[in-house]
Amino acid sequence: MKPKSQIVNIPVYKPGKPIEEVKRELGLSEVIKLASNENPYGSSPKAREAIQAELMNLSIYPDGSAGDLTADLAEHLNVGREQIIFGAGSDEVIALITRAFLVSGDETIMADQTFSVYKSNADIEGAVSIEVPLVEGKHDLEGMLEKVTSKTKIIWVCNPNNPTGTIVSEAELVSFLDRVPQDVMVVLDEAYYEYVTDAAYPQTIPLLAKYANLVVLRTFSKIYGLAALRIGYGVAQPEIISLINKVREPFNTNRLGQSAARAALSDQAFVTQCRDLNREGVTYLQGEFERLGLHYYATHGNFIMVDAGRPAGEMFDALLRQGIIVRPGFQVYPAYIRVSIGTKEQNEAFIKALEYVLKAETTGV
Ligand SMILES: *Cc1c(COP(=O)(O)O)cnc(C)c1O
Repeated sequence: MKPKSQIVNIPVYKPGKPIEEVKRELGLSEVIKLASNENPYGSSPKAREAIQAELMNLSIYPDGSAGDLTADLAEHLNVGREQIIFGAGSDEVIALITRAFLVSGDETIMADQTFSVYKSNADIEGAVSIEVPLVEGKHDLEGMLEKVTSKTKIIWVCNPNNPTGTIVSEAELVSFLDRVPQDVMVVLDEAYYEYVTDAAYPQTIPLLAKYANLVVLRTFSKIYGLAALRIGYGVAQPEIISLINKVREPFNTNRLGQSAARAALSDQAFVTQCRDLNREGVTYLQGEFERLGLHYYATHGNFIMVDAGRPAGEMFDALLRQGIIVRPGFQVYPAYIRVSIGTKEQNEAFIKALEYVLKAETTGV
């Protein structure tokens, strides 16, 4: 059997290591996973109640267009219903965008260290990814503009950027959008939008009216804590949404996800509480990294990238033996690990383990 030639060398996505696997392999009873930017406070109790009610309907196909959820979200965002598309996570929306717009030979621009799903999907379509180096962990929008050619179809801006946690400001973004050719799509991945507290962070939904080439991606997987249910979405002008809709599977999001997302959306108090607790965690971890003399990128998300001072894989293994799972494996930052912001207890356990590993090295224990 002969596959499409462009997929042969595509790596399979490596998710964070599962807790159960680590417990089994290392014989540990307590393991803390700070590897996948999951919400350590779970999800709104309202979401769980909504799922209970929906369990009566498992034999019935979901509403493929997610009509009720679309209506709720349109009202929440103050956009038209025809401006929203849902996916099985925003991962799927990324795949749908590449499927709808990229063909073999097209060029697509992204940062050199960002969410890997843009490039893997571009590869699948046979498009060429032009990777522009981050500058101090931040998107180089000017550098990205310089790479635009007549072949450029899509520019991806992950804001906050995963894994560095940096943001581009509203002023920087608007100046960039003013200069991107109108036939080049700009996808702003705002998976961590609800976590950001910095006033310079762009409010992009109002920008959709002015920039017809803009797509904003958000998700219920992160602050809403519904990663298991796979609900993410894209917001853009109706023309773009209707094109993406053409390549969407008829029932791509399910009943449990749709009803839980509606309930989660209605519980903004939960979101606010998680955002506040996250910022406390960020302040604590950044303070501890400073105390330990470790370089980090000041973060706007629910994760932080810190210099481990050695190959990240070594720090990953050493922390694993202490029962903490973090994320290594960032090509451009081979000595950095990404750690998700946990609860106060989890953050303290992480720092304790980190300090133990750092000390063990200097004392040779
Ligand atoms: C987690 C994440 C997503 C996708 O999450 P879904 O669970 O597929 O909605 C998208 N972009 C970035 C940058 C992420 O970190």
